[in-house]
Amino acid sequence: MQLPADYHMHTPLCRHATGEPVDYARRAVEIGLTEIGFSDHSPMPQDDFDNWRMKLSQLDEYVGKVRQAQKDFPQLTIRLALEVDYFPNGEDWIRELAALHPWDYFIGSVHYVSDSWAIDDPQKLSEWKNRDSFEVWKIYFERLTQAAESNLFEIIGHADLPKKFGHRPPQPYAPLYEKFLDAAKKSGCAIELNTAGLRKDCQEIYPSRDILKLAFQKGVPITFGSDAHAPGEVGLNFAEAISLARGAGYQESCRFIRRKCERVTF
Ligand SMILES: [Zn+2]
Ligand SMILES: [Zn+2]
Repeated sequence: MQLPADYHMHTPLCRHATGEPVDYARRAVEIGLTEIGFSDHSPMPQDDFDNWRMKLSQLDEYVGKVRQAQKDFPQLTIRLALEVDYFPNGEDWIRELAALHPWDYFIGSVHYVSDSWAIDDPQKLSEWKNRDSFEVWKIYFERLTQAAESNLFEIIGHADLPKKFGHRPPQPYAPLYEKFLDAAKKSGCAIELNTAGLRKDCQEIYPSRDILKLAFQKGVPITFGSDAHAPGEVGLNFAEAISLARGAGYQESCRFIRRKCERVTF
C-alpha cells in the first residue's frame, strides 16, 4: 500500500517548531513516505501581527531550506507550500504571497475568528470563557466557507479546529459545516485529514467522522497531514487517518504540483 503524502509540516522559522526541513525529510524516508510538503505558517503584512509565524523577510530563507531538503533527499518528492491564514478582506495579501514563489499548494486555515483571537492559541485559551461557544463555531465555519469560496487555496486546513481544547460543537451541528463543504466542492478545494488533533485535548483527527462522511458524499477531495512541528511527528498516526478516510468511502487523495491536482489511490 502506498502511503499518502504528508502535506502539512512546519519549520523553526515559525518560532514554535523544532528541526530543520532536512530532518523532517530524513524522518519521512525512514517511515516509508514517498512524498511530503512543507507548509509553514505564512508571513503577514505586519511582522508583529503575532509571534507564531515567519517574518516576510524570512520567506526566501524558508524556500531555501526546502530546496536544500529537495537536494539532499532526491529519492523523496518534496513540495513547496504555505499554510496561509484566511481573513475576510485579506485576499489581496494572499495573492501577493502567491506571486512570490512557484508554490505547489496553499493550505488555507482559519485560526482567527476576530482580528486578535486565534482560537487554537494556548496562550489565549482563557478567551474561550468570554465568548459564546455557539458564536465561535458559527463564525469559524462562516470564515472557512469564505476561505473555500475564495479560490486562493488548494486545501483547507484542520476543518473543525475549534474542538482542539475539547470545546464540543453546538447542536444541531451539520448546518454549520454543510455550507462549507458545498463551497469546497464548488471551488474544487480539498480538505485535509490532520492527525495533530489526536495529540490535543480533543484526541480526534480533524475533521470529525461526520464531516468527512458528508464530504465524501458531496465529492470533496482529501489530503493527509501530520501538522508536524518536530521531525518525530512526520506521518504520525497516518494508519488511523487512512482507516478514517476509507470508512468514509475515500480511496483517492490529491497531490499537488504547481497548484494542479493529481488524484492518487491510497
Ligand atoms: Zn503551528
Ligand atoms: Zn493550522
